[in-house]
Amino acid sequence: MRILVVDDSATMRRIIIKALNTTGFNDITEAEDGEDALTKLEGIDLLLTDWNMPVMDGLSMVKEIRRNASFANLPIMMITSQAAKKEVIEALKNGVNDYIVKPFTPATLVEKVQALSAK
Ligand SMILES: [Mg+2]
Repeated sequence: MRILVVDDSATMRRIIIKALNTTGFNDITEAEDGEDALTKLEGIDLLLTDWNMPVMDGLSMVKEIRRNASFANLPIMMITSQAAKKEVIEALKNGVNDYIVKPFTPATLVEKVQALSAK
């Protein structure tokens, strides 16, 4: 199970990775923005991404990924402070499979990752 964690905040990446590590997810790659992430998709089984990032934001990245048939079924979860209903709907409409609003508990994160990775 290879997971790509995309967030412009190194601290947030560390928090997410720590939560994943304690549950046995150890094969993790990091990217600091959408553009960086697009170069690291090969072999990834699950993508966790922030929304607001410089260079390329999470939603633009998701749209880019879903345009590519090879990544049409890659599970994607958005982890963001964009909590408005309108934004959640927009993300889901563009191919995000699940959604977590910051701040989140490690337990919530792990529960959602396990649900997504079981599909
Ligand atoms: Mg951010």
